[in-house]
Amino acid sequence: MTPSADAPLRIRVIVDKPLGLLDYHVPTSLKTDIKIGVPVTVPLGKQQATGYVAELLSPEESAPPEDFEVKPISAVDHTRPSLPSNLIELILFSADYYAATCGEVLHAALPAVARATTQRFTITPDGLKALDTNLSEPHQQLLEYAKERPKGFTLTGLTRALQWKRASAGSRLRQLRAKHLIELTGAQQATKRKLLSYRRLPTPPEGTSKLNPTSQALLHVIPTLEPIPATRLAQTHPGIFSRSRLKTLERHGFIERIEKAQSSNPYDITVEPDVPPAPTDEQAEVIDVLREACSANTFKCFLLQGVTGSGKTEVYLQTIERCLAEQRSALVLVPEIALTPQLGGRFRARFGNRVATFHSGLTPDERRHEWERVRSGEAPIGLGARSALFLPLKNIGIIIVDEEHETSFKQEESPRYNARDLAVLRSKSEGAVCILGSATPSLETRANADSGRYHHLRLNQRVFNRPLPPVEIIPLSTTERAGDGIFTQPLLDALRACLDAGDQAILFLNRRGFAPYVFCKDCGTPFRCPDCDVSLTLHRRRNCLMCHYCGFEQAAPTTCPECESDEVGAHGIGTERIEAELKTLLGDVPTIRLDRDTVRRRVDLENRLNEFREGKARVLIGTQMVAKGHDFPGVTLVGVITADTSLNFPDFRAGERTFQLLTQVSGRAGRGDKPGRVIVQAFETEHYAVNCATTHNYDDFVIKEMEARHELRYPPYSHLAILRFESEEEALANQEANEATNRLRTRTEELGHGVSVLGPAPAPLARLKGIYRVQVLLKSSSRRQLREVLSAAGGKRKSGIRQILDVDPVSML
Ligand code: ADP
Ligand code: ZN
Ligand code: ZN
Repeated sequence: MTPSADAPLRIRVIVDKPLGLLDYHVPTSLKTDIKIGVPVTVPLGKQQATGYVAELLSPEESAPPEDFEVKPISAVDHTRPSLPSNLIELILFSADYYAATCGEVLHAALPAVARATTQRFTITPDGLKALDTNLSEPHQQLLEYAKERPKGFTLTGLTRALQWKRASAGSRLRQLRAKHLIELTGAQQATKRKLLSYRRLPTPPEGTSKLNPTSQALLHVIPTLEPIPATRLAQTHPGIFSRSRLKTLERHGFIERIEKAQSSNPYDITVEPDVPPAPTDEQAEVIDVLREACSANTFKCFLLQGVTGSGKTEVYLQTIERCLAEQRSALVLVPEIALTPQLGGRFRARFGNRVATFHSGLTPDERRHEWERVRSGEAPIGLGARSALFLPLKNIGIIIVDEEHETSFKQEESPRYNARDLAVLRSKSEGAVCILGSATPSLETRANADSGRYHHLRLNQRVFNRPLPPVEIIPLSTTERAGDGIFTQPLLDALRACLDAGDQAILFLNRRGFAPYVFCKDCGTPFRCPDCDVSLTLHRRRNCLMCHYCGFEQAAPTTCPECESDEVGAHGIGTERIEAELKTLLGDVPTIRLDRDTVRRRVDLENRLNEFREGKARVLIGTQMVAKGHDFPGVTLVGVITADTSLNFPDFRAGERTFQLLTQVSGRAGRGDKPGRVIVQAFETEHYAVNCATTHNYDDFVIKEMEARHELRYPPYSHLAILRFESEEEALANQEANEATNRLRTRTEELGHGVSVLGPAPAPLARLKGIYRVQVLLKSSSRRQLREVLSAAGGKRKSGIRQILDVDPVSML
């Protein structure tokens, strides 16, 4: 719709504030620039806010309203990129469905720089050179202004200082940016990374013999034909590699340095192109079906259920290839923790620069740079964690959600969206193919496959017919234990045998710290978090007690505060204690521990995983961080210390989580040439979540779990929403929850809807960071009815209380 020049035009704008759509009118002079997705600046109270055009109202709707004043937009903001209209649509839908404001969704969807009110600009070296050349007066003024501000300036600052209109300042800025005389602050940093490669010169200078033996050795692994990236040398020859050695060799004329500008994404280094392997028969069948669906150009959703190591990733790669060949783009979502350089590398090896990668380790500049590559179409493949769902890809042909059962696709703060569910929706609205991949699909997805809404594809065999590792289950209640009781004798024996054979092992326990319970041995007083409803965990190396929910810390006590006894005991097992016990039992075996205590930043995770892969440690001990998607060919033993730690969680998905974790972690064994072995220690050896995992029997697990869900009317047999009230005052939280529950019940009766309103009751985590939490659970087999009832949740905002609505909750805590 192109608005005619004289008709009034009203638009709705998503502003970068936690607010809903706002109405503005468009001055005649700006009309031609207005389209859905165009960035604008609008007055908001006494300030200016940035936003995007979300809706153009029809001429009738655009008539001036009588009851309120509609302000004009201030400007079309040419300093920010515009968004494709399909993305705007997705943002609006998400806000509506998850009961968030579209401003909040915008915030989650875009990298800061595409929203920022305070984008900063700087002059480039070319800009400095261009000063006092043949510039127009305003351009000269702008560059002079920029030159005096080496740390950057904002559009607002510029507008004020030169007393220009914002629109003209913006367009002049845009003109100079187009000529690369001005750039976004930090743009250089993002593109400055150079890939350093080296090549040996064919004729060595005199005196090769003067080199020390290590440098000699290094020189000899540098090829003469193709330059080799320094980072690759570091990986392949860690023993002899050093940057200073390379510099010396270069200085003396033995080697030559080749610099290439490199993508700003650190995950993209040193990947050599690969040749797609011939698919296995199973893979080939699945790839055929998926490629055909891609070529059909219509929405279709698939569940790709493939055992660990069955080659799902290869299926994705070969399907995407078809998609690109048809000039369509691809979006790949993976859980944050599975997004390792290894995975990124496989995509880069196949598709080179056409992949843009997004994960939490990127700097804002790098994120913006990758985002811009996607928006401009330079990178038609977006690979990333949850928020990559909102990448501004055009003409999407396929959306893949790998490990679709992972809870991290759900954002646990507003907007509480589930990227997996929105991926299906986005595929539908773009006429794209959607693949949900997993070895252990969520029950919701599985139910959709069983009902025929999704097409069910399977990969039942591991690549090369590597067997799934046999899993032995060891009852903790009846088996002899070694040492201080963490290891049963059979697990310890297996571990010794594995190490003796020169192999590697993984030990898994989903709990960090040294011991999860600390108490007085004389009077029994437990040490609990003063602010949360949980016990404190002892961390021995740091000699403190910690709350894993709020981060509270206190020095490890030596006496009981109640009875002053100095007999303070610690009970239970955490990863830190396993590491200590291993030292006692096995002496100097090098170990690596992976949990939130040892891995603070993303690079820590990468470094540790790499060290383990390179064989620098023999045993990897960790929480669920070790379970996800890693490929360690050297691992032949996986030991699960206590399989049922997660089984007694007050959450109806506890069984599903336990089964998934056990399957994932077992799948880490035997991925190389040697067969693997898994040993699972458990108390509740008879529970089907433990049992079925040990027999790799997902289908049996599903039958049993579906029965349980059916009986209690939990998803997939119903849809849920949680309405939670949080307050420092317990009474206030209870009172508000009671009132809301009454409103919801009344509404349900009025509408005659089949919605159960359960509660209010204290949340399983009844107090968190000093805040009381009371919740109401709503269940219905109809999404529509649930939403209609929820609209009565409202109630006036009061101070001292926060109301949270979680639609399709993933965590019940
Ligand atoms: P999944 O994602 O199902 O766990 P991957 O795609 O990671 O499995 O495959 C497991 C391993 O097998 C990887 O190392 C991969 O490179 C390799 N692989 C997958 N498909 C093939 C194939 N057709 N031929 C040779 N190797 C393959
Ligand atoms: Zn005591
Ligand atoms: Zn706490």
